[in-house]
Amino acid sequence: MIFLKRIEAFGFKSFAEPVVINYDFAMTGIVGPNGSGKSNITDAIMWALGEQSSKSLRGDSMEDIVFSGSSDRSSLNMAEVTLVFDNSSRAFKTLDYNEVSITRKYFLIDKESQYFINNSRVRLKDVQEIALETGLTKSSLAIISQGSISNFVESSPEQRRRLFDEAAGVAVYKKRKEDALRKLVKTQDNLDRINDIINEIERKLPSLKRQSIKAKKYQEKFEELKQIEISVLVKDIKVYKQRIEEIESQRIDLKNLINSLEKSVNNKADQEKIFRENAYSNDNELNVLTSKFQKVVEEIGKLKVSKVNLESKKTITNANDKEFKANDLKTKSKQLDIRFRAEEQKLAKLINEKIVKEGQLETYNKEKQENNKNIEQIRKKLFKIENDLETLINKKNSFDGLFEGVKNILENKKVLSGIIGSVKELISVEDKYEVAISSIMQNSIQSIVAKTTNDVKQAIDFLKNNKAGFATFLPLDTLTASYLSSDIRFAVQNLEGFVGFGNELVKIEKKYQIILDYLLANFIVVKDYESAIRTAKIIKYKFNIVTLDGQRILPHGAIIGGSRKSKHSSFNENIKIEKLEQEKLELEKVEKEKQEKINSLNFKIDHLREEISEIKSSSGTSRQVISQIENEQESVEEEYRIITGKELNKEENTYKTVDEQIIKISEEVAVKEIEKEEIQQQLSVIRNLKEKAFEKQTLINESLDEERKLLNAHKENYSKVNTDLTLLKQKQMSAVERLSENYNLTFESAFDMDISDFNNENETRDRINWLRSSIKELGNVNIESIEEYDKENQRYQEYVEQSSDVQDSIKNLKEAITDMDEQMILQFKSIVKEANGALPTTFSTLFGGGTAQIVYTDPEDILNTGIDIKIAPPGKKISNLNLLSGGEKSLVALSVLFSILKVKPIPLVILDEVEAPLDIANVERFAKYIKTFTQKTQFMIVTHRIGTMENCDVLFGATMQQKGVTKLVQIKLIEAKKLSNAN
Ligand code: ATP
Repeated sequence: MIFLKRIEAFGFKSFAEPVVINYDFAMTGIVGPNGSGKSNITDAIMWALGEQSSKSLRGDSMEDIVFSGSSDRSSLNMAEVTLVFDNSSRAFKTLDYNEVSITRKYFLIDKESQYFINNSRVRLKDVQEIALETGLTKSSLAIISQGSISNFVESSPEQRRRLFDEAAGVAVYKKRKEDALRKLVKTQDNLDRINDIINEIERKLPSLKRQSIKAKKYQEKFEELKQIEISVLVKDIKVYKQRIEEIESQRIDLKNLINSLEKSVNNKADQEKIFRENAYSNDNELNVLTSKFQKVVEEIGKLKVSKVNLESKKTITNANDKEFKANDLKTKSKQLDIRFRAEEQKLAKLINEKIVKEGQLETYNKEKQENNKNIEQIRKKLFKIENDLETLINKKNSFDGLFEGVKNILENKKVLSGIIGSVKELISVEDKYEVAISSIMQNSIQSIVAKTTNDVKQAIDFLKNNKAGFATFLPLDTLTASYLSSDIRFAVQNLEGFVGFGNELVKIEKKYQIILDYLLANFIVVKDYESAIRTAKIIKYKFNIVTLDGQRILPHGAIIGGSRKSKHSSFNENIKIEKLEQEKLELEKVEKEKQEKINSLNFKIDHLREEISEIKSSSGTSRQVISQIENEQESVEEEYRIITGKELNKEENTYKTVDEQIIKISEEVAVKEIEKEEIQQQLSVIRNLKEKAFEKQTLINESLDEERKLLNAHKENYSKVNTDLTLLKQKQMSAVERLSENYNLTFESAFDMDISDFNNENETRDRINWLRSSIKELGNVNIESIEEYDKENQRYQEYVEQSSDVQDSIKNLKEAITDMDEQMILQFKSIVKEANGALPTTFSTLFGGGTAQIVYTDPEDILNTGIDIKIAPPGKKISNLNLLSGGEKSLVALSVLFSILKVKPIPLVILDEVEAPLDIANVERFAKYIKTFTQKTQFMIVTHRIGTMENCDVLFGATMQQKGVTKLVQIKLIEAKKLSNAN
């Protein structure tokens, strides 16, 4: 049989030239002198089949297998050997090819070997496995050197069994068992590690589970609470909002009512006071007038008494005297005349007085009208101011006109930490700079000032979570100012028309100055367009310039211009409110003064009217008196005519002393009477005034009482409304805060949510309270424990599963090992038994008689037992193998070898000078005996022995024609003999 068809070697040991050995016969002999490279062929075969031990290859290290150079040839840096096998009988069971080539390459540069099967790169393991399959290993029968033959007998029974292991194919199992045992150890280690982990997880899992269950309970409750509480809070806030609006409008109505009532009460109280004061002065005047009146009455009485006395004197003496009567009539007429003139004078005075008083009345009325008109104007102004104030205050409080994000941040300032306010709220700008500043600040007045970047982050998260818009933030901790360089500042400051730098023209609390420095320090404010152009040229159009009327020159020369509204309502709201309130106070003061003036005019007018009416009635009386006097005068004149027959001449002075005295007294009485009437008239004016004033005062007092009561009631109501409002606002605020703190929601975003309806409000509220308290009862909750527990539990399950898998594989491995053991025992026993069957024949063939037997040293432990050979050479009684001669030892070994080969043929056997110790007759027997095996086995025999050479089918001679370089050629027997003789 031919199994190994070809060897190709190059660079391996002494094969400095490429060598090809073709095997065309079953028994090939290799001959040549010592050191010519014969054994290198065996080494090449072993090496190509994956030999790893450099000692087995007769070297110190693997590098030694590469041609190291000779005296006239330099070294090589790689070795390569290819073995080509005939696999038509599928000796390589796993390779379904008729021809199989195995190649090994070795490179000095990286000291690495490469393996190829049929030119495909494979692993060492793959080569070793197929070598094992065919029994082509160093410990098998395949490669037998002289050393190993003599060793067979001399080695221990345990070493000896290796040959049988190989033959039995147990070596494969042994290797697999070793692998399985290694795997078992590794798997057991793995199991221990897994169990350690399982123990560790088991220790912490229960507590984690408890925490996780608690956290889940918390989450469930929190979710339920969130669901229903948000809807309840939204409902509450809506109700609060509506109620606040209603109450707010009630409050405004009440406030207006109270204001007007207060005004009215004050006014009436003022009037009442004036009435009281006037009543007092009236009383004084009345007293003065009354005593004057009494005095005049007394004087008149006295005059009248003296007049009566005089008249009675006259009457007694001249009662019947005609002349006396005429004279008396004359005196009477004179007295009437006196009275007449006095009365006429009085009437004239009254008429005059009336004209004067009416003139005064008209003046006062006009003045009153004027004041009323003024008051009306003031009230109109006040109405406007109050409206403006309300609009401003509402605007200030409602964040109207702000960006959505800014509005949301400011509205929720209380629940966001570190938010100070908008820039707009923090600054104030003088009127004259408003237009300029507003043109440069624009949207930046809506930037929000915050304490730190961390606060800003929270605020931004809040906006994001609530989808509540955008805002620009200015964190005080990181804001840095950008100033113009000092040269530029100096240059600009000295230019005509320079007003200031933006940051210096706006006012802000000192601690926030950085905001202005950041926003405005780079802006140059100038008086007008011409100044702007001049400045721009000097600074080469590099920086922002703005004029007082808002025209701008941007860096690089762009100009923004046109007309801006003179007032920018975004600034100084507080100042404006203050200003309006001041104006309101002043106007109210003027209104009060005017009202007081009207009140006092009313009194004067009343007084005048009373006087005029009194004058009118006095005039009437006076006219009556005058006509009465005229009548009396006429009848006196008539009587005088009758008595004297003459006309009475009033100018004719014929009065006697008595008459003259009476006339004089009459004149005096007339004067006094007029004086008395005047006093009477004044008295009557004052009494009437007093009476009317009293009536009015009573009326005022009554209505004052009523109004005061009403005012108090309204005030009480107002304070109640205020308390209600504060309470509602607090409730609303705390509901909004709860939304924001607990659920990170603004009212608007909560309102937009799909909130659940609730049927029974009371039940829902009870549920909320219950949920809240049971959440509180849960105490500290570790939310992360849920995920942690799930993770750990999952890990636990995985490890438990792994552990069971690993235990299964340990079980499988153990089973496999037991199976292998059983198989090994079976195969081992069978090969020993079979070889034992063949041994007596091979032994007696090689020894020319005698017999031998293979025995176990420990039949109880077949797996580990050693092998002993019991022999009975022909004619000798030797039981100890060591006592045999070298040749005999070789023959024993060879007979065991051949017995095994007989029962377990292998496709290739290399014998390296194994017959060297035999004598010629035994060599002959040996060579002939080999021949009987060539049907099933190919032999490659390295030999020096003629007997062997003669029996080989073909001979190759190894020579070193070139020093150190092996050359192999097919030779004839005669040449072979020559080569061997040369040895
Ligand atoms: P013997 O009949 O004495 O057993 P042999 O023919 O079997 O001899 P080998 O042992 O095969 O001879 O060859 C040994 C030769 O190979 C020696 O001459 C040795 O110098 C040469 N040799 C071994 N390794 C190398 C190497 N790496 N480079 C060059 N030559 C080597």
